[in-house]
Amino acid sequence: MQFVAAERAEILESGGHYVLKEWEDEWGVVVGTSGAGLDLAIPSQPESGTLPDSWLSFFTDQRERFTGVVVSQQVHGRKIITHPRASDGIVVAEPADGHVTAVRGLLLAITVADCVPVFILDPERVAVGLVHVGWRGLAAGIMESAIAAMKALGAKPASLVIHCGVSICGSCYEVGPEVMSEATGRRSSAPGPLDIRAEVVAMARKSGVRRASISPWCTAHDLRRFHSHRRSGGSKSRMAAYIGLPLG
Ligand SMILES: [Zn+2]
Repeated sequence: MQFVAAERAEILESGGHYVLKEWEDEWGVVVGTSGAGLDLAIPSQPESGTLPDSWLSFFTDQRERFTGVVVSQQVHGRKIITHPRASDGIVVAEPADGHVTAVRGLLLAITVADCVPVFILDPERVAVGLVHVGWRGLAAGIMESAIAAMKALGAKPASLVIHCGVSICGSCYEVGPEVMSEATGRRSSAPGPLDIRAEVVAMARKSGVRRASISPWCTAHDLRRFHSHRRSGGSKSRMAAYIGLPLG
């Protein structure tokens, strides 16, 4: 089977969220990203039960399908947490940049505002993953780490399907030669555009993944819909990206 070049996925706008409807229709997986209407930033010293009310509001909407949601403070590293059981309510796990699970009723969440939320699904083993990827994570090998965590749950890379969600696009994200070199290994002498989603897809392809799609949206292009850290001049507001196998 040939690799299917990254396609633009169709995203449904629903109740202020941006939902990957095709995964829900085809595989029954809940996949989405909140929009600019909610600020779901995680405080710097979070504890479960001390998150802003916006998290309660976010989770209330998911309560029928999920008993718990897990999120972490993100550190631009390569740590992925495997969740063997569903939690009850909103849980802040140890710092990490990705989560994987094969259990129903647990919603995995990360926060983003330009970085790429990478959604991963193994439709055969019925396992899901969600990774926060910026240039530092890319350089640290977070995607390799996530694919290894999915393999540990029994997934084969060739069965995996990935989607790179709403994030800053290549033409809005200029980086200097040092960042370019660390993130991609490519040498340059002047600042240039970095398309992190394209890098994620290329990396996944190298690891044996055959199906990938990208969101048609860019955070920096559309501040009315999304939070963009760079475009806003450093705002700390964040959206939540989420994936889960609903109870059913
Ligand atoms: Zn853009």
